[in-house]
Amino acid sequence: MGKATAFSLGLTGGIGSGKTTVANMFADLGASLVDTDLIAHQLSSPGGIAVPEISRQFGPEFILPDGAMDRSKMRERVFNHPVEKAKLEAILHPLIRSETEKAGAEATGPYTIFVVPLLVESGSWKTRVSRVLVVDCSEQTQIRRVMARSGLTEPQVQAIMNAQANREKRLQAADDVVSNEGDIMQITTQVRLLHAKYIDLAESAKTNLIQRL
Ligand code: ADP
Repeated sequence: MGKATAFSLGLTGGIGSGKTTVANMFADLGASLVDTDLIAHQLSSPGGIAVPEISRQFGPEFILPDGAMDRSKMRERVFNHPVEKAKLEAILHPLIRSETEKAGAEATGPYTIFVVPLLVESGSWKTRVSRVLVVDCSEQTQIRRVMARSGLTEPQVQAIMNAQANREKRLQAADDVVSNEGDIMQITTQVRLLHAKYIDLAESAKTNLIQRL
């Protein structure tokens, strides 16, 4: 059993901003990572705890022989059908919440980073973490990186970005920012400085907690 840390971060940023790259750097320095996308994905993977309820509410035809949710079929079902989409989210969201909380409680690092791609969009996350860290770059850089990584076209990447909060809105929600416009060295330096600051903040959060007991 690990110890829940009194100090936690929500790390967010637009698609291709460099969230994964930056999160992994913090993990290399010793921070605990909780990847909410991964947890969400596992819920509807083979053996995932959301699968029985998805089968009950949508029908067993939405479950593949290996026990995973049929993602492409579900995507078709919820696309342009807000009621169906809300039904799926009502199954998934509480489970994402409880599973991420469980992972946070089991984390053993000096502080925990929750990687939440849609933190700014989803509202409640901001109140569940001590600070929000935004990984930021220009929209042109996002488009270039995602095109290189995925082979999507520029309009396809733009469409994904249009469904996310814009750069300004995200920066407004930030307590700290990693600027990821330049090369990897530049973010390494920023991450080292922030990590030292988070260690300090985690220490004082712990001291405050003990003093209040
Ligand atoms: P996100 O998780 O926000 O979608 P990633 O960390 O996966 O972003 O980064 C998107 C892509 O851009 C990846 O292929 C990654 O290796 C690359 N990348 C990220 N930051 C940089 C950088 N500073 N210089 C060069 N490539 C980068």
